[in-house]
Amino acid sequence: MAEKFFKYVIVGGGVAAGYAAREFVKLGLKSGELAIISKEAVAPYERPALSKAYLFPEGAARLPGFHVCVGIGGERQLPEWYSEKGIELILSTEVVKAEIASKTLTTAEGTTFKYDTLIIATGSTVIKLSDFGVQGADAKGIFYLREIAEADALVSAIQSKPEGTAVIVGGGYIGLELAAVLRINKYKVKMVYPEPWCMPRLFTADIAAFYEGYYRGKGVEIIKGTVATGFVTDEHENVKIVKLKDGRELEADIVVVGVGGRPLTGLFKGQLEEEKGGIKTDGFFKTSVPDVYAVGDVATFPMKIYGDIRRVEHVDHARKSAAQAVQAIKAKEEGKSFEEYDYLPYFYSRSFDLSWQFYGDNVGEAIIFGDNNPATPKAKFGSYWIKDGRVVGVFLENGTPEENKAIAKVARLKPLVESKEELIKDGLAFASKI
Ligand code: FAD
Repeated sequence: MAEKFFKYVIVGGGVAAGYAAREFVKLGLKSGELAIISKEAVAPYERPALSKAYLFPEGAARLPGFHVCVGIGGERQLPEWYSEKGIELILSTEVVKAEIASKTLTTAEGTTFKYDTLIIATGSTVIKLSDFGVQGADAKGIFYLREIAEADALVSAIQSKPEGTAVIVGGGYIGLELAAVLRINKYKVKMVYPEPWCMPRLFTADIAAFYEGYYRGKGVEIIKGTVATGFVTDEHENVKIVKLKDGRELEADIVVVGVGGRPLTGLFKGQLEEEKGGIKTDGFFKTSVPDVYAVGDVATFPMKIYGDIRRVEHVDHARKSAAQAVQAIKAKEEGKSFEEYDYLPYFYSRSFDLSWQFYGDNVGEAIIFGDNNPATPKAKFGSYWIKDGRVVGVFLENGTPEENKAIAKVARLKPLVESKEELIKDGLAFASKI
């Protein structure tokens, strides 16, 4: 079987891989030094587009429009970009075995790759209802969304059943974005989730009340406090009915499930130290084994600002961790010292004409400010999280670029709060003054 050698190999061809390639090129890469091995059939792209503009009925985003690094306003890395830079982009190829001790990767076709330095950027996979043995969960018409091939399958299903009925299982950001985009496609949409409100890992009840009210106003039916326990199919094995734990039965032409993800670390089990479900790294994204780095969704890294270690499944971190790892690799080669990663958590989402950003840590007491009435056009509101007398996290709906910059600064600086009442009264003005 064929064996190939590269100085650097990246396993996975998603967001982190694309931004790592950019950084290698920026810092100086010789032709033939870097290979990216990706299961997907296309060059790295900005994955968040898949649950947003990719699913629009008109003016939909399509490749090559959203290849990395357009997400940060950078150069769009088309497949030709990789060949021009002498980077081997090996697509539609899954790595099925990794032997860290012998620095060997094996693909499904049986090709082996040797490397000096490995960057693991395998990202996450979706949690499936069939993982919990939900009856009928393999029926046709039940969709998950992680990769472009799945988004394409969803687009064809939407187009083949115009103005149909969709049930969204899950109330996280995938559920919320998909519910919106299916409504935009003129689908009747019902969302089902067990929690008392949507996005419970980030939203407070006050924040969620706005989005749930807004979604209802757009015609989305929200069913909370129950879960999907089974699916009934028609004679062609297409999903027809979603059965809920509370006994209700919902008709559906399409079901989209967004119940979370899990990092793809399986190839490296027992070979690299793990923590909190991810591959443990230091502040340079170096794993427990020399010359092996892990970036993006799979990495559990020191969150310097909070003095703990975390795994972050967001695009901003995928981009920044990739750049950090490559800078650290290059600095090490040149015998230079380099700063540790100092990440400020940043999450965002967009749906309908809404757009929110969050910076920092959502711990402690949360207070709401602004107008969170879902009936107000272009409502602007936010939330501060206060811990030990300091603002540690800020959420803002409908912020301008300057306002979003101001809330990021607050989360980074963690200013003291002299009076909670004043903070509520000042609202966004508090952030603008910092
Ligand atoms: P990925 O981008 O997932 O890339 C991993 C790549 O590795 C994939 O191409 C995969 O096929 C490949 N791979 C895995 N295993 C192997 C193997 N064994 N061999 C070869 N290749 C392999 N984040 C936000 O902050 N805001 C958003 O609005 C947002 N929206 C999102 C919408 C969707 C639909 C999804 C799925 C995610 C969204 N995210 C969002 C999360 C964000 O996209 C991820 O955090 C980010 O893509 C992580 O980058 P990554 O490179 O670690 O993994």
